[in-house]
Amino acid sequence: MRAAILKEPKGRLQIEKRTVPTPGHGEVLIRVHACGVCHGDLMVRNGEFPLARPPIVPGHEVAGVVEKLGPGVNYPPPGTRVGILWLFSSCGHCESCIVGDEVLCANGEYVGVTRDGGYQEFMLARADNVLPLPDSLSFTDAAPLMCAGLTVYAGLVYAGFKPGHRVAVIGLGGLGEMGIQFARAMGGRVAVISSTKEKETRARELGAEKFIHEGTEEIDEALRSWDGGADIVLQVAPSPASANAALRGLASDGTFSLLAPVPISPDPFALIMRRQRIMGSCSGSRKDLRATLDLAATHGIRPSLRRFPLDRANDALTELETGRPAGRIVLVMDA
Ligand SMILES: [Zn+2]
Ligand SMILES: [Zn+2]
Repeated sequence: MRAAILKEPKGRLQIEKRTVPTPGHGEVLIRVHACGVCHGDLMVRNGEFPLARPPIVPGHEVAGVVEKLGPGVNYPPPGTRVGILWLFSSCGHCESCIVGDEVLCANGEYVGVTRDGGYQEFMLARADNVLPLPDSLSFTDAAPLMCAGLTVYAGLVYAGFKPGHRVAVIGLGGLGEMGIQFARAMGGRVAVISSTKEKETRARELGAEKFIHEGTEEIDEALRSWDGGADIVLQVAPSPASANAALRGLASDGTFSLLAPVPISPDPFALIMRRQRIMGSCSGSRKDLRATLDLAATHGIRPSLRRFPLDRANDALTELETGRPAGRIVLVMDA
């Protein structure tokens, strides 16, 4: 099989032939059909992801088919179309694991970070952490849900989202597009904050009722004039200036949900006076991925995609790093 391997931080991925791995106890072998290219993969390549241990095969937005079961596994049966959780494994007995928040486990292993991920034709996964895909989702449409979709879903839910909430999404890349679609599907209202005026059409197509251009508008004022401010801000773009302005545009009892590592400088007095919260959120657990997939299937949530063959994995990462592409790049194995 072919695999794209990062041998050392800041290196190029090497496309090499490897032996198809054998699933161990509790594992399944997955034939990868599609793997999304995420900003997290760039962090792994650039040596910026704290846990990454090269040599490693990146890629954690994986959709494929169960090919073979390891010892002790009887589900899901071979032939099942599945998506794979970013969390490769967790301890199973800490407080987070017991309550079904296993993504918060302090002893987790992560797909494409500490375990070989989806930039290859076959990979291993824990049987517990693969979920059957709804029939209506193709592999390429499903792949970006495994991180981008799951991350925005969890970023909304754990921020206390309720139908009717005003959600401000900062940035309209892969996560931003998902953010609009999930907030709308769950009954929210959406404003998009972006540096590119051209993205307004796309934002409105996806259901945003308000577009704030960060170059020409005062973001805080624009948000406050939106019926009192945003109930939830989804920070998905690396833009500290917009993040700080959006913090000032948060409604009373509002929550600023940090999904990308951006330095922010909150005004403590404003937080106190308006009972506001700042939280971070990363990926999600199995229950969250199940809900993400079901919402996407039910509400027709689809990423806009650009497809790259596995052999062009380096080009895909360069594109993500330099081009700020609209939508999501997906590696497809049979291209
Ligand atoms: Zn645990
Ligand atoms: Zn990701």
